[in-house]
Amino acid sequence: MIHIQKDFDPPPEKLRSPGCKNLIERTLFSRKKQNASYNFYRNKNVVKRLKKIFHYKCAYCEVLTNGGFHVDHYRPISSVKNLSKEHHKGYYWLSCEWSNLIFSCNACNQYKSNQFPVENEFFRVIEPGDQKEWRADSITFTREKALLIHPQIDKPEKHFVFLPDGNIKAITEKGEQTNIICQLFREDLIFRRHKAIQEIIDRINEEISLFITQDHNEMELNAGLRSVFSSLFSKMSPEKEFSRLHWFFGMKFDAFISYYITNEKRQRLIKKAFHKYIRKASNTK
Ligand SMILES: [Zn+2]
Repeated sequence: MIHIQKDFDPPPEKLRSPGCKNLIERTLFSRKKQNASYNFYRNKNVVKRLKKIFHYKCAYCEVLTNGGFHVDHYRPISSVKNLSKEHHKGYYWLSCEWSNLIFSCNACNQYKSNQFPVENEFFRVIEPGDQKEWRADSITFTREKALLIHPQIDKPEKHFVFLPDGNIKAITEKGEQTNIICQLFREDLIFRRHKAIQEIIDRINEEISLFITQDHNEMELNAGLRSVFSSLFSKMSPEKEFSRLHWFFGMKFDAFISYYITNEKRQRLIKKAFHKYIRKASNTK
């Protein structure tokens, strides 16, 4: 999960259209979500804009969607798990609220479903209130202290870290709940994240082996490693799958290398080359 820059204002045209305003009025009158809201929040221009903003990746697990995706409602619009329907009818008024729309893969969307725990149950928003307060970053919603990371408001790196084996570890309650809600520790994700790291480690190992067998001299070794490091940095770009994981790899490089490579001589060579690469990169900035 990465932080996403998305302007909450203005929303896409379709969500500001008279038809949408009309639907919201009907929603407020009936006090439940309208099935027709689909036509607005899943409108092709709205989806197109969301895809672009989220780099065609699931906002929660960072997997490239390859066609299968959902427009997820950050705050569920029909009911909220563990709350009685008499007490809370869901955040039905937010069906077409731009800041409530998140681009998500099928798996995360299904796991998340209608879960939405908050720290401050006392401040849980039950009624629509003033429309000015419908934005996800409004004072009214901030007071709830949602326990699900909002990719456009929160900085995910403050809530969890990635481990060299592809696992994800929460460092806050919000991170922990987000992991549970979206099952970000599911087996296939750990496998894919581990594979992404392993691919880079394999390339590093190849370069070191060529040097140790004297097929490459020191200059060739450094050039080879620089090319691997540069590819690691390019994978940190927001549009790349698992960019946050690669960012962690770069930030915790020594720990990741020590986890995968046990030979001390190899470790020393790699770490030395990496820190030289970083120094050079920051000097040229
Ligand atoms: Zn996902």
